[in-house]
Amino acid sequence: MVSKKILVLGGAGYIGSHVVCELLDKGYEVLVYDNMSTGQSENLFEKAGFIKADILDVDSLQKAMQGVDAVIFFAGKKAVGESMINPEMYAQNNLIGAVNVLNAMCANGVKNIIFSSSAAVYGIPQYVPLDENHPLNPINFYGFTKWEMERLLAWYDQLKGIKYAALRYFNAAGYDVQGRVRGREQNPQNLLPIIAEVADGKRKCLQIFGSDYDTPDGTCLRDYIHVNDLASAHVLALEALFAGRDSMTLNLGTGKGVSVKEIVASAEKFLGRKLPVEYAQRRPGDPAVLYAKADKAKELLGWEPKFVSVDEIVSSFLKKH
Ligand code: UDP
Repeated sequence: MVSKKILVLGGAGYIGSHVVCELLDKGYEVLVYDNMSTGQSENLFEKAGFIKADILDVDSLQKAMQGVDAVIFFAGKKAVGESMINPEMYAQNNLIGAVNVLNAMCANGVKNIIFSSSAAVYGIPQYVPLDENHPLNPINFYGFTKWEMERLLAWYDQLKGIKYAALRYFNAAGYDVQGRVRGREQNPQNLLPIIAEVADGKRKCLQIFGSDYDTPDGTCLRDYIHVNDLASAHVLALEALFAGRDSMTLNLGTGKGVSVKEIVASAEKFLGRKLPVEYAQRRPGDPAVLYAKADKAKELLGWEPKFVSVDEIVSSFLKKH
């Protein structure tokens, strides 16, 4: 079998680097393209090629597309709060970046793309679990860019025959269970990396945003999906497109809601000590409960998450390799 060449945009980032590991394992030729604004050099693997460039740099993008069989598109801004303060940056990177990527694909005859979407496209849930047909009503600019990017994909499919898998991640969590990914995100904004910083003494205390929600323990429920499971879904989606399947939009989650307190308890169990915790106000825009109906990915791809226990997810995050 001739190895297929995959261009991974944003391949030095958190999810991208896990997907690169999985692709290399499966024998794909991989070219990572990353501007290293948040990507980490520890996440670059010898077996993969690397181009340091931005998706806003059309010439570099054009060159990188040559001889490529598929694109996996992680490069994008992803901090919800920042997107509300600096929408220009999100429009530029996520929207103009996506147009550049799709146009470079057209110019080079690349017909397949796997795209990182997000549960943020749904906004405040009207019901849970959230299936893919839930109305789309993003409540932050980041979620809006993801939705627009999905719509761009649908048009380029219709007009240019580009096949896509748009994967709507729920709460990506954990680190490679084999310890191959060594980079750790800088200035994290999410619960688990913040817990890791509190555990390391880099932060004084974890603030739990809201303890009076209408949930079993009063804290928010989220669907934490292990990053190795996300990675396997990307490769299955890629194989499905290579096999000639139609474009698809899929939730990637476990289908289970886990509370902030459960995550903290699991971290404390792993560390063998209590963490400094403080109860704070609810964070604006946080729905009480958010979890996926993830059956479609199972039906279409035969994908099932493997690392579903809270302890597995949390320990893979806190373990030092
Ligand atoms: N959270 C928290 N303290 C923090 C960060 C997050 O209590 O310092 C809560 C947040 O309110 C939400 C859950 O942890 O209920 C997951 O938040 P995160 O920002 O990781 O992901 P989101 O669900 O917002 O995408």
